[in-house]
Amino acid sequence: MPGLLKTAALNTSRVLGVNRVMRWQMRSRVLILCYHGVIAQKPKDRARYANTVSVAEFQSQLEYLCRNYHPISAAELLACLRQQRPLPARSALVTFDDGYQNNLVAGEILLKYGVPCVFHVTTGYIGSARVLWTDELLNRLELWPDPEVPLPLGGTRVLPRNPTERQRALWEIKESCKKIDASRLEGYLEQIRTRALELREDPELFEFLNWDGVRKLAKNFEIGSHTVAHPILTRIPPARLEQELRESKQMIEAETGKPCFCIAYPNGGADDVSTAVTEAAANTGYKLGFTLAERYSGVDEDPLALSRFCVQGHLPASYFEFRTSGVGQMLA
Ligand SMILES: [Zn+2]
Repeated sequence: MPGLLKTAALNTSRVLGVNRVMRWQMRSRVLILCYHGVIAQKPKDRARYANTVSVAEFQSQLEYLCRNYHPISAAELLACLRQQRPLPARSALVTFDDGYQNNLVAGEILLKYGVPCVFHVTTGYIGSARVLWTDELLNRLELWPDPEVPLPLGGTRVLPRNPTERQRALWEIKESCKKIDASRLEGYLEQIRTRALELREDPELFEFLNWDGVRKLAKNFEIGSHTVAHPILTRIPPARLEQELRESKQMIEAETGKPCFCIAYPNGGADDVSTAVTEAAANTGYKLGFTLAERYSGVDEDPLALSRFCVQGHLPASYFEFRTSGVGQMLA
């Protein structure tokens, strides 16, 4: 019932024109969206697929963008930021993170709508059969056979029997792994990997692109970096930070034959990006850097720290329209 009430409230804000007023307020700034994956059908288990959108949902969101915004490319955005000239009114930029195989489906749809895009790829996973470490960890914890699971900083935690509480506990452990030093995290992952478990396979969700796929996308879109191994950049030493930024950029340029000037910082939250990180990105030759902060960005902002809205999928269209209207930014 609360879900229905929420949907009704969001629909009301749409009918009353709140979203339109908010979009107008933000017309001189840019809306940057962050997607992760596009899958064929709306899934039954939404929680696991929350970072994806369905093909139908993606199409309707692109129609909405084309109707209400002016989709621009990363190169156009960069030109405006560099010259400090106004952005085209109601600018919007679409980006994808991680580098999943399903991004090829997204590419075909984007082409159909003529919408530019930056696909940020995690080069260490491209062409590999590995699952992103955060997904692998969560999957291993879900399958953990003992009543207690080891914790990243030592000790154990008794897992609740209630499925919802259990899932929340596992999620908390996964999130806590993003707050610790990378060396400690590696040790924890090794410890968790010692248990032989039958991991769940879902290629549509987890499979990464290979370089042929990346090159195919590069014909029509920008390829950006999402680092080599997807570490939290504020949790690694300076030498590793420099290496993650440089090696991923070089690999993308060598494989695509095109310059790589965009970077999306893994996880992208306030704790995951620092001035040291954005300065290192600038020193490596990146021109645009993307975080996740649910705000429209302006030409006066640091091009290496532009905010994006993370699109959560399989929700009513009114939710997407309300969240991306900028209302949160106005109320903050
Ligand atoms: Zn990512």
